[in-house]
Amino acid sequence: MKRPLIVQKFGGTSVGSVERIRNVAEQVIRAKQTGKQVVVVVSAMSGETNRLVDLAKQVDSVPNARELDVLLAAGEQVSMALLSMALNKLGHAAVSLTGAQAQITTNSRHNNATISHVDTSVIDQYLDQDKIVIVAGFQGVNESGDITTLGRGGSDTTAVTLAGVLNAEECQIYTDVDGVYSCDPRVVTNAVKWPEIDFPTMHEMARKGAKVLHLPCVSYAWQHQVPLRVLSSFESGHGTLVVGEQAKAQVQGVALRKQMRLLKIAKSHVDVVDKQKEMLGVDEAEWLHDEHFSQLLLKSDCSDRLKLVIENKLVAEQDVALITMIGVEAIAQASQYQQLLNHSDISVLHFCEDKHSITLVIEPEAIDKAAVVLHDNTIITSGTVVEDVKQVHLG
Ligand code: ADP
Ligand code: ASP
Ligand code: MG
Repeated sequence: MKRPLIVQKFGGTSVGSVERIRNVAEQVIRAKQTGKQVVVVVSAMSGETNRLVDLAKQVDSVPNARELDVLLAAGEQVSMALLSMALNKLGHAAVSLTGAQAQITTNSRHNNATISHVDTSVIDQYLDQDKIVIVAGFQGVNESGDITTLGRGGSDTTAVTLAGVLNAEECQIYTDVDGVYSCDPRVVTNAVKWPEIDFPTMHEMARKGAKVLHLPCVSYAWQHQVPLRVLSSFESGHGTLVVGEQAKAQVQGVALRKQMRLLKIAKSHVDVVDKQKEMLGVDEAEWLHDEHFSQLLLKSDCSDRLKLVIENKLVAEQDVALITMIGVEAIAQASQYQQLLNHSDISVLHFCEDKHSITLVIEPEAIDKAAVVLHDNTIITSGTVVEDVKQVHLG
């Protein structure tokens, strides 16, 4: 039996100004007035985390990971306090808690930590006093009490984890689009909104770059069967419910990943570079091998860190972007995708096959055009269109 409790998470744009924080407060009050307990998770105000990262980089181009967490956690602390003030001002008792105060424990992997345990006693104590509890997203503390953060976009994961441990009826992720689309609606104007999306497809979308949901958030909800919904904080609507275990075979979505890099390395150095990559905690990287060289495909910022230690083993580097077609049937259509892109003067540098998807590595300037071409020739024409109303709010 679920508890009559809802977890609502509001992302950066949704708390991007004092006016928007007041709107969020009103929305939270409406949820409370249905008689349910409400736990709210907030992100930093839009642009704030980037501003803090930039400040850190002005001091040190590769900032100390522990100190970066101390700095970045401050962003969410601002939002939670302002929202709590707004709620109290409107006559609804609320209390804000940092990750540490909410007793969210993580491992010690600074900048990309994983939640290991939540002791809900403090949150429960305030809920028992009929208070709205606001928790700072994206942060926790390790066993030594040091502040950690969960990786960019990590507030989604805070919300879903709290929904899981509190046995909430639903975890609602409020953001600046009104649900999950077949591709990023800011890039592909024909993208279609799904009323529902199954867990395997959503997981693959998030894994391949669709930042509408943080990957560990989807994994947690899937594993613990937390009802998870993505909705707009600007418009009313039912959003997208993530539900079901069965992925459809057809291509369901297109995920984009910008700011990626290929590092070309002599075959004799692959083992050493692989070890250094592991020591730095760069786990999201893929090796592409050909006859003479091996290339490591990874995020540009991880590549900057890795390059500091492997500079002399590097033969060449290239900025790239990735476009992933999601659906088991996509794998067999690689040559069709290549032809479609070639017709638009876009060359495919590499293909990477996965169980449920195929990724095309292309030049970064071509990514938006490639997304439109592949999306409109696959998703739209394959009859997957389910809803065509779109609400996008610029942050
Ligand atoms: P928040 O700050 O609320 O966490 P994010 O910027 O992290 O918001 O995520 C929302 C953004 O995700 C949207 O503005 C959209 O540009 C992007 N996005 C990428 N892929 C998708 C998709 N398939 N469906 C919806 N939004 C997507
Ligand atoms: N503020 C953090 C970020 O910008 C976490 C989040 O928004 O979920 O990545
Ligand atoms: Mg996000």
